[in-house]
Amino acid sequence: MPGFERLLPAPLLILEELAADLHWNWNHASDQLWRSLNTEVWEQTRNPVSVLQLTSGATLEQLASDPVFLTQLQQVVDARRYYLLDPGWYSRTYLNQPDKPNTGVRGIAYFSMEFGICDALPLYAGGLGILAGDYLKTASDLGLPLVGIGLLYQEGYFRQSMNRDGWQEETYLYNDPGSLPIRPLRDSDGRWLDIETGFLCRRVRFRIWVAQVGKVKLYLLDSNHPCNQPHDRGITSKLYGGGTELRLVQEIALGIGGWRLIETLGLDIDICHLNEGHAAFATLERIRSFSVENNTSFWESLWATRAGNLFTTHTPVAAGFDRYPTELLRRYAGESALAMGVTLDDILVLGRADPKNTNEPFNMAYLAMRTCAHSNGVSELHGRVSQRIFQPLFPRWPEREVPVSHVTNGVHMPTWDSPEADAIWTQAYGKERWRDDLQKMNPNALQQVTDQQLWHMAASGRARLVDYARQRFARQWRHEVLVETNLPPGSPNCEIPIELPLDPNILTLGFARRFAEYKRPDLLLHDPERLARILCNPKYPVQLIVAGKAHPADTIGKTKLQGWQRFLLRPEVAEHLLFIEDYDISLAQHLVQGVDVWINNPRRPWEASGTSGMKILVNGGLNLSTLDGWWAEAYKAEFGWALGDGEEHDPAQDSADAEQLYRLLENDIIPRFYARDAEDIPREWIEQMRSSMAQLTPRFSSNRMLQEYIEKHYLPAATAFQARVENHGQLAKTLNDWTRHLHRHWHEIHIGERSFTDAETGWRLEVNIYLGAITPDNITVEAIADNEGKQPAERISLTLTRAGIANTYHYSGLLPKARPAGDFSLRVIPAHPQVQVPIETTLICWQT
Ligand SMILES: *Cc1c(COP(=O)(O)O)cnc(C)c1O
Repeated sequence: MPGFERLLPAPLLILEELAADLHWNWNHASDQLWRSLNTEVWEQTRNPVSVLQLTSGATLEQLASDPVFLTQLQQVVDARRYYLLDPGWYSRTYLNQPDKPNTGVRGIAYFSMEFGICDALPLYAGGLGILAGDYLKTASDLGLPLVGIGLLYQEGYFRQSMNRDGWQEETYLYNDPGSLPIRPLRDSDGRWLDIETGFLCRRVRFRIWVAQVGKVKLYLLDSNHPCNQPHDRGITSKLYGGGTELRLVQEIALGIGGWRLIETLGLDIDICHLNEGHAAFATLERIRSFSVENNTSFWESLWATRAGNLFTTHTPVAAGFDRYPTELLRRYAGESALAMGVTLDDILVLGRADPKNTNEPFNMAYLAMRTCAHSNGVSELHGRVSQRIFQPLFPRWPEREVPVSHVTNGVHMPTWDSPEADAIWTQAYGKERWRDDLQKMNPNALQQVTDQQLWHMAASGRARLVDYARQRFARQWRHEVLVETNLPPGSPNCEIPIELPLDPNILTLGFARRFAEYKRPDLLLHDPERLARILCNPKYPVQLIVAGKAHPADTIGKTKLQGWQRFLLRPEVAEHLLFIEDYDISLAQHLVQGVDVWINNPRRPWEASGTSGMKILVNGGLNLSTLDGWWAEAYKAEFGWALGDGEEHDPAQDSADAEQLYRLLENDIIPRFYARDAEDIPREWIEQMRSSMAQLTPRFSSNRMLQEYIEKHYLPAATAFQARVENHGQLAKTLNDWTRHLHRHWHEIHIGERSFTDAETGWRLEVNIYLGAITPDNITVEAIADNEGKQPAERISLTLTRAGIANTYHYSGLLPKARPAGDFSLRVIPAHPQVQVPIETTLICWQT
């Protein structure tokens, strides 16, 4: 590892290995260990590599003979060894099972533009990255054969500070690879491995780094290769920081470069999982490499590989997708198209809703939809929203049949729980609870935990949050003082004592998220007088901690940040309100472990899922949130509070929503928190904590999420993929010929007049269908009744009753009498046991 030139005393050598495995990130004992090595550096950086580099040799020597430290070290080492040796829930459940032979997945490659694992590896901007980080950690816990593929940004996302006008300022810090917990990937020859891609007739090389996330490896591509031209070395400089062209180049690097890396390493991958459409070019490179290896055409290779590709969309509006002008793609992808044996136009068609509209920009999400046989949204509501968004790709198919399912997000509980919460969950469910089948968790087990214990857990989390928030506040405040007085840094006056705001014993609200407009980060400020009154009520005091970054180009978001800074200038709120700069994982961890109520008020349906509210569940926090994303499916009055009426509204509704927010706080939440019995315990509040903890935590943990991905997507996709690629893609070739035949003759299909007769048990429907050159075994005839959602949709397959003359076939079926026969429409769709309709072929013929 580059930063480890210093020689550690022999008993401490193992620390290098511990530092290089991000497993320390979700392990309270490791947290203690690094803190006892060097409290200051650990608190500031949360980076073991920095701790090892910045701790004095004398301290290291002393610890090397300190029996207490060595015992602590040994415990961490033993726990990690045990963790790594355990094959994990996945292999216990799916591999080598006598009743389920060959069901396993061989390997999953998880592609993401960002990964938020820990602040020591800052390669994330927000929720998408945090989800990806939680995904890798859970895959490690469950023993899933998964690798992550991402980019190493030299500067990552920006760091935030607020200037004296309350305006956000951005700083891009250099991610010095020498102090990041990553290692260069070397080949067997000891040489640093690199991967090449072509851009505009130039070859660009990417160095490869590996981050070890427990049992899982995250591979990171880095364009800062000494042999690249200076311009190209900056491709992976910033996350979401460049213009359209740089973004395209980054996505080519991630997708094409990422898949090449998999091929170069010879990883046995059957599932390619795209976390958002950014990495969709990976599916094209997968096609190319399959063609070369099996001597198949582009389209045959698409049929083969598509079965093993999964696309998870996170976007709630079509405008949120990455789209590129055709010209740009022509410049960057022309070469690749040639290498794949197709024309660029063939590729461009995959990124358009209407293949014939050459003015349409190239849409990465459309590319992903067309090259993945599985697609899903990230909550139940978002699944439905995505069906609407992707409907244009399925012309003449009803919206509810658009093939986007959903897997609701979850969070990695061991990353977000407090040490006290961890102890309580261990008492109720044992140590292995997040590494095993959640079905085994009995919701009643939390009844064993007393009210006092829960209340004590909440109080400890709150106290730690108050302490931490004060420290961060002091840091940002001193910085401000320095600017005002022009004191040189390091002068003694930097230690000016400050009045410490916050109180560890009062109701604590948290609001932290990206300052994007749809999240309505200023809704609480709708009536500033009223908010000030709520915070400063002497009988029922309340405190609020706010944090969040606006995208550097988002002036509206920055204005909303400024609104908070202005509000903060009111002297009466100073003790009850803190804005903490530079929202990051460490702050998020302290917040979710210490708040009593977490507020989230996005404009429905823009919060595809939202995950921050899930992180408080394990710690006993309660949610006050819009019925959007995950909360729309989780909410019950016994768990928390709902904003809005579960419908979509325009911004004119904001004042009504703000009114509801204040009213819930004033009339319900605050009085309930302060309704204490003789022992000073709020019994009703604690009952709510217990319900929310027991019922929601397992449901919104990433274990449940991963188990769902495995069952719903990975296993069926792996089976389908393995069948298609056998014998050099024999089945894929057959299916490719099969659809070609259908496409050529589909227009010949004609549905004749239907007739209904009243049979005792239903309506007997009969119809003649002319199929032309297509034979009946390749299609299904269906009667469909939807009736605009008033009654459940009904879908009935008709049976072939006899073959007529001249390719005309007679079909019949029995329709339920519960609705008028006229509700039903007739249609013909392709049918093949190994093809998914309509995601793999959108052909459909309705009775006109
Ligand atoms: C969890 C998290 C997010 C995402 O939260 P949302 O609920 O999507 O707003 C963003 N940033 C950080 C640092 C987080 O921990």
